[in-house]
Amino acid sequence: MSGPFVVALDGPAGAGKSTVGERLASRLGYFYFDTGVLYRAIAVAARRAGIDLLDEGALARLVTSVDILVRPPTVGDGRQHDVLLGGGDITPSLRTPEVDGIVSQVAASAAVRHGLIDLQRRQVQGTGTVMVGRDIGTVVLPAADLKVFLDASPSERARRRLQQEGGPVEDLARVLVSIERRDGIDASRAIAPLTVAADAATIDTEGLTVEQVVDQIVGLIEQRRGRRPRVSA
Ligand code: C5P
Repeated sequence: MSGPFVVALDGPAGAGKSTVGERLASRLGYFYFDTGVLYRAIAVAARRAGIDLLDEGALARLVTSVDILVRPPTVGDGRQHDVLLGGGDITPSLRTPEVDGIVSQVAASAAVRHGLIDLQRRQVQGTGTVMVGRDIGTVVLPAADLKVFLDASPSERARRRLQQEGGPVEDLARVLVSIERRDGIDASRAIAPLTVAADAATIDTEGLTVEQVVDQIVGLIEQRRGRRPRVSA
């Protein structure tokens, strides 16, 4: 196999997808894209517009008219992308407990998913791409060269998420409830539910470092390509 390599990286909240995905892309010189920011941006836009999250018509109008731009980060606050809504930087608002609380409901909307699919597919870049989400291997990029599903126990995922947020240990129970609630909605929705693609490799990341997970995925890429992937300097 030759040409740009496409990796679909899926899994539940806190499984390590964005950390692993970014590290993998940087090691291989691939383009990295986290699709979760699109659903989060739509959630912020819906809140700002006062839209009832069960109103499919309003969500459909929103997703077709909204001006969202995702670009490489210009601020060194740990963000992976700048996300602009109507030209304004909303990146710091994307990972609040409020958005965590509504984003899965927004992402369950058929209109929202339909409205975002082309935008996601257009992100595939000529250098090779690592795309991260819930339905990348199953729906967005079903012909991806490699599909990986990252998993870990809910308690481990909550611990990691809390560490990422930098919150106090007393918040652990709240974070656990929040990710289990999101997982429940993501896995049970009618359209593009969170599920393991039939041809995906599952990696249980419990007890593994980020580098160990990246090494495993690089190994899978090497197997698929039949040679060592080119590593950027
Ligand atoms: O990955 P992240 O936690 O930022 O995703 C936020 C939410 O966006 C998920 O809980 C899920 O509801 C939704 N999402 C999705 N499909 C994707 C990426 C994210 O439904 N490909």
